[in-house]
Amino acid sequence: MENRYKMRVMAVTIGTLAALSIFITVRYRRRRRSQKCPSSSCYLQGDHCQNQKKPQHAFKRVLADNSYSPFKHLKKLHDSPNENDLNSHPYEAEITALLDNPGLEFSFMSKYTDLKMSETYTWVETETQLKELVDVLSKERVFSVDTEQHSLRSFLGFTALIQISTQKEDYLVDTIALHDAMSVIRPVFADSSICKVFHGSDNDILWLQRDFHIYVVNLFDTAKACEVLSKPQKSLAYLLETYCGVMTNKLLQREDWRQRPLSNEMVQYARIDAHYLLYIANCLIAELKQQENEISCPDDKFHFVLEASRRSNMTCLQLYTKDVEGFPGESAASSLSSRHLNGQGGVSSNFETKFPDLVRRLCAWRDIMARLHDESLRYVLSDQAIVALADRAPMTTTEVCNTINQADLNVDLSFHSFLPSPSPVVCSHLDDVCSLLQDKIGNLNDIFPMIIQKCLGPSGSCPISIYNYALLINCNLKLEFVSKQNGVKSSKQVAKKASRDLFVQKFSCKSPVYHNCRIYANDGRLLCYCDQRKLEWYLRRDLAKIVDDNPPAIMLLFEPKGRPEDEDNDFYIQSKKNICVGCGEGSHYLRYRIIPSCYRIHFPEHMKSHRSHDIVLVCVDCHEVAHASAEKYKKQIATEFGIPLFVRKVVDLKQAQVMSGSSESETNLEEGGVSPLQLRTAAMALLRHGPRMPSKRREELSQIVMSYYGGREISEVDLEKALLVGMSPHERRRLEKKKGLSFKPSAVSILPKVEQENNNGSTETSGIVETSEVTTLDDSQSTKAEARSRKEDRETGADVGDSSVCADSGINEEVSSTFKENVNPDKNGVSDINGVLLINSNDNCESRNPSNRIVDLYQTEYDGTAQPKHHPKLSLLGHGPHGKQVVDHLLKEYGEDGIRQFSQRWRQVFVEAVHPRFLPAGWDVMHRI
Ligand code: AMP
Ligand code: MN
Ligand code: ZN
Repeated sequence: MENRYKMRVMAVTIGTLAALSIFITVRYRRRRRSQKCPSSSCYLQGDHCQNQKKPQHAFKRVLADNSYSPFKHLKKLHDSPNENDLNSHPYEAEITALLDNPGLEFSFMSKYTDLKMSETYTWVETETQLKELVDVLSKERVFSVDTEQHSLRSFLGFTALIQISTQKEDYLVDTIALHDAMSVIRPVFADSSICKVFHGSDNDILWLQRDFHIYVVNLFDTAKACEVLSKPQKSLAYLLETYCGVMTNKLLQREDWRQRPLSNEMVQYARIDAHYLLYIANCLIAELKQQENEISCPDDKFHFVLEASRRSNMTCLQLYTKDVEGFPGESAASSLSSRHLNGQGGVSSNFETKFPDLVRRLCAWRDIMARLHDESLRYVLSDQAIVALADRAPMTTTEVCNTINQADLNVDLSFHSFLPSPSPVVCSHLDDVCSLLQDKIGNLNDIFPMIIQKCLGPSGSCPISIYNYALLINCNLKLEFVSKQNGVKSSKQVAKKASRDLFVQKFSCKSPVYHNCRIYANDGRLLCYCDQRKLEWYLRRDLAKIVDDNPPAIMLLFEPKGRPEDEDNDFYIQSKKNICVGCGEGSHYLRYRIIPSCYRIHFPEHMKSHRSHDIVLVCVDCHEVAHASAEKYKKQIATEFGIPLFVRKVVDLKQAQVMSGSSESETNLEEGGVSPLQLRTAAMALLRHGPRMPSKRREELSQIVMSYYGGREISEVDLEKALLVGMSPHERRRLEKKKGLSFKPSAVSILPKVEQENNNGSTETSGIVETSEVTTLDDSQSTKAEARSRKEDRETGADVGDSSVCADSGINEEVSSTFKENVNPDKNGVSDINGVLLINSNDNCESRNPSNRIVDLYQTEYDGTAQPKHHPKLSLLGHGPHGKQVVDHLLKEYGEDGIRQFSQRWRQVFVEAVHPRFLPAGWDVMHRI
């Protein structure tokens, strides 16, 4: 009895409060400020931002940012990396189990529970308090929940308060203060042995997922129960009134739930929304059970309780998604356009013609600006303002402001009429609105990247935040995507593509080369790029907050000592995108060394350390171009310096001597020496195909090998030994290791012809038969080496590993320069060029047409296989000796300046060949280490 009385008193009190609040709210709304327009800097920046402080700026991490990328749902620890990854509900199994087999005891309230709301409640705002709450809840069999949202000054909205009531206590969880700590409460929500009572849970379920990855398992929704019971109304206000005699003012749901402290009125409202739910649920369940017994015919029983429970848990299976549009603002634009074209009809001549286009522009602009500044669409620019602007197309900034203000005044009684009009977003970006209206931006598709660059680009007007960061990244990707989309494919191109794909699959870098972890200053300016460890260092010390997961980025919470713009070294603060610097290709890439390693490995140590500048990522196509030009330039250098690319002669049987032969014009076999390349080639050909060769050719080749052995007769063993001549010890070891496999015909591939230009321009020609055993074309080796280099990269923190196979060891270059020939294989695998019988006995191997590329191919085969750290004798077969002589010469004549200029020449060669469009900003031909 006493309870009933108290409740009535309370109801009256609440009723009075409600009336009062309506009055206050309405008065409040009538105040409409007209902003001073225009203002030059973004309202979120600098002095302006003090009175614009938004609590979500303190969040360290958000699950749903304002980019166009889809929402990522929770991955449970032991989830298999699933097919439909992003779209699967992490608790689908648990919820489905409940649907099949619901626990129907539902004893929510003990009989003696006091219905009335006590004086006190618990405000939860620290992590400790939150953990205590979790402890309490985990011991309960049931608790009720409601949430309050803020949506005006946020693009997607965020949960500002969670109300939780047990039979004993009301808890108000400050989800703004605890935004980054909310994960501790996940388990009780997902615990299927604890029932959660909501009213009208559809939105709450999604909001909890969006903000905290909280998924509700085992739900009883009192609104669903009302449905099943066919109640005349199913609003909470109705239920509160009917079951509890409590009045509530639902206008309060539109209050600004960000404010702290909450007003007493708001606290009351929030508590009421959760407090009575357990009691109401109890009543409804009783009714459901009663219905079950009364109404159902005995043999076909309709399970009322079960149905209410089933409908509730079906709600839990919903998944939060971001709205998807074909183009920013598209759906708003089409609904506005059609509404106004069908409706009122045109006011001005503009109406029929430009109107839809302007609406589309303005909607796109509004959408992007709302995302950038994390504001709601209606806060940025109202629908009626868009219509007015599109209709009148004002030309000056003042006219624009007036048009917006007038349009907003005309709808004075609308709920958000108290908003500043025009909004600060419009005022601080008024020029854009004008450009938009004046048709200064030709193509609508250009608006998107243009605005993002203008606001968030290198000298952007607006602060970068956890909400808009990914927008910037996606924008870049989109631009690259567009730039790649031109070109029609012929059937030949298709074949080429297949071969190229295979190459890409086999030899491109298997994971992103650059971590590209970013550090931003607290004003949103980019400070530098770094690795994961550095980020973690800051995070562990609470010196930074995460602004993005992929690629990871943090924002410092303190003022850093200096800014990169202050100093003049913007190269190292550029992101190294994992795309081809030439054409922007992003699907695959290989490392490419702009300065060939045959030179680079001989550079003084300190000039090699900052290597990231001169190792770039390129796609196979650009690699091809770059590589060919580099090989051509090597020849030019050989001529210029008088240092031939290859060792001209080896003479001694026991000790292969280097005879640089720079003054000698031609190879003269009679002088008792032979080029190592020629020797090896001849020996190989004889071993493989000697018996099947035309005798004349066999004789010629034998002469070459004999001249190396001082003219004596040669045996098969001599031929095999000749294969080792000119190799570095490292290469020899590898060959010997493989001995068993050595001469199986199946491993043979053929290089039909090598033209080798020497320093005075004469050409020597020889048939080359190459075994895969002695090349670096060996899968197991390359993968191992690659893995090793990766590991080294990680251990040393080097951005790009010098030892990587990926870059310019023979592997990539060989395949790179031959994958195109692949497409057009020699039909029968046999050809006769220059009197050499060429047999392609390997079906798997490429047969290659004679071309200059093959020269390049062979010449680079051993390039870089000599390991600089161990300093073995250089291979005489590659360009190592040439590189060493060139670098020695430069150092001797010009010192380190010579090396610097030499490096610059190579960068120039690269630039002229590839015309790179995607080099990181700050990359410079003149770069000095
Ligand atoms: P409630 O649980 O009914 O208090 O509503 C929860 C949240 O939904 C509120 O904090 C509001 O953000 C939002 N909401 C519900 N209905 C409205 C409405 N008619 N207008 C604006 N916001 C609403
Ligand atoms: Mn509520
Ligand atoms: Zn801005």
